[in-house]
Amino acid sequence: MAVTEVICANCKTRSSQPVKEQPEVTSSPDLDLRPAPGRRQTMDQWVQECPTCKLICPDLANPPVGAGEVLAHPDYVAMTADKTAHPLVRKFRAWAFVAEKTGMQADAGFAHLHAAWVADDAKDSGLANMQRHMAAMHLAAGRDRGTVYGRQKGAAEALLADVHRRMGRWDDAIHEAERGKSVTDQPFVDALCDNEIALANKHDAGVHTTNEVP
Ligand SMILES: [Zn+2]
Repeated sequence: MAVTEVICANCKTRSSQPVKEQPEVTSSPDLDLRPAPGRRQTMDQWVQECPTCKLICPDLANPPVGAGEVLAHPDYVAMTADKTAHPLVRKFRAWAFVAEKTGMQADAGFAHLHAAWVADDAKDSGLANMQRHMAAMHLAAGRDRGTVYGRQKGAAEALLADVHRRMGRWDDAIHEAERGKSVTDQPFVDALCDNEIALANKHDAGVHTTNEVP
């Protein structure tokens, strides 16, 4: 893995951090935008951790404003010190916490969703459901502020529908998909929402990819 030297903006510690790669992939992402195999293996490059102050965020050189104040929070200290957690789940949860406390609801939602994907791979459905529950909460709050795909109307609802469907929350999935259909002006987003409604009506909580969408 390629690494680069980064100086933590919070405590000025210099450390080696992975470079985020974008390998080419030939298949489509999942409906919740989880990248196809080949790119999803780069997830351990998506967040950096300062070895000194334990700040965890996508770029230690450019953390959110106010991130430094979050680090002393007892929940954050406990979360980052948890050696029993899956290492990548630990990092995504910590980044979600920093994002939430610094007002970045959408980022917090995506970080919890990323933690859910890691839990899926670890076959830990309880943890995956808990992380999706948190993701749905923060993504809905971000959607209400226009910070989740703000320029692509209905896309946030299509994503929320998928997050609910994967938890088996059929009514919530259908509600979000119908809401997405009512606001979108894009045929693909409309088709995504129709697809979520069809899957939810079949009580299908499985993984499906965007290339299955008619
Ligand atoms: Zn630091």
